[in-house]
Amino acid sequence: MSFVLKTTTSNVRSGELSTRAGKVLTPTFMPDGTRGAVKLLTPEQVVKTGVQVVLANTYHLHLAPGEDVIAKLGGLHKFANRKGPMLTDSGGFQVFSLAKVRKITEDGVTFKDPKTGDTVFLSPEKSIQIQMKMGADMIVAFDDVTALDEKGRDRTLEAFERTHRWLERSLAEYQRLTKNMKESDSPIIFGVVQGGLDKDLRKKSLEIVQSLPVGGIAIGGLSVGETREEMHEMLEYLSGLYDDSPRPRFLLGVGDPIDVRKGIECGIDMFDCVMPTRNARHATVWIKGDEKIHLTNEKYIEDTSVIDENCDCYTCISGYSRGFLRHQFKVGEPLAGALASIHNIRYLERLCEDYR
Ligand SMILES: [Zn+2]
Repeated sequence: MSFVLKTTTSNVRSGELSTRAGKVLTPTFMPDGTRGAVKLLTPEQVVKTGVQVVLANTYHLHLAPGEDVIAKLGGLHKFANRKGPMLTDSGGFQVFSLAKVRKITEDGVTFKDPKTGDTVFLSPEKSIQIQMKMGADMIVAFDDVTALDEKGRDRTLEAFERTHRWLERSLAEYQRLTKNMKESDSPIIFGVVQGGLDKDLRKKSLEIVQSLPVGGIAIGGLSVGETREEMHEMLEYLSGLYDDSPRPRFLLGVGDPIDVRKGIECGIDMFDCVMPTRNARHATVWIKGDEKIHLTNEKYIEDTSVIDENCDCYTCISGYSRGFLRHQFKVGEPLAGALASIHNIRYLERLCEDYR
């Protein structure tokens, strides 16, 4: 892995990250291909928006079809017909936000598969094994994000401390599984910084993660219900604390253009979020100035203009009118969601390209 920073203006960075599946120019936005596909889009349509990395969810893919099936189908890239770099998250966030957690112990988390009711166990070692078996080019250490719904400092502190013990176990498992691989063939592993909105904990967490041989620094536990001001304040605070090591910084689960801009200006290199595509499927798109419009609005019924005349995405260049899109949304045609998804992803890729 190498990460070369080409230019830096104050905190804004422009870099080139080498992964085993190809180069990635940063800053960059990575859409979520939750179950191996970005919803409604073909891999070719995704690439044409300027996407360089597609993210897939360990939690969802582990539950179905399972990493063994994916490995038998040729690994994540072949499975998803994805030719460029892919990143998997650790599964931690979904375990705590989607599943009925039954028990958290030092060992790991036991939860119920919401679909089948089966008992599933996930631990730092297991998460790394799953991600390695699927064959992602970038992987994330398993963290304790239970503090999500329990904001008290005690719980934050417990999750914080456990996250670092789990990071060491994730790293040990990663080192065990990559010991016979050349460095250039190994996936890049990200360690996750936690600590909620507590600045002391955040600072300590960042110091611990940076002191370990991780390939990248991920910032977790933001965009989970705090205010925008609180998130931005934390990003600013952290921006003064990063060390000089050439490692990419990944802000987990953030994809609103206003927050992405703030992140980039605070030295973040990578972003992922389901929001751009989820919004698009619900007819909400961004136009110039980060303004959100709702295409189902009555006022677009006879509107001949495209979503955004400044946009160079397929949807806008081809001339699909707001009136047409409104109608397709109203009658429930999936094409509308696909066209709006292309626009929203392109919106964020253009934003990142402008900074690069
Ligand atoms: Zn567009």
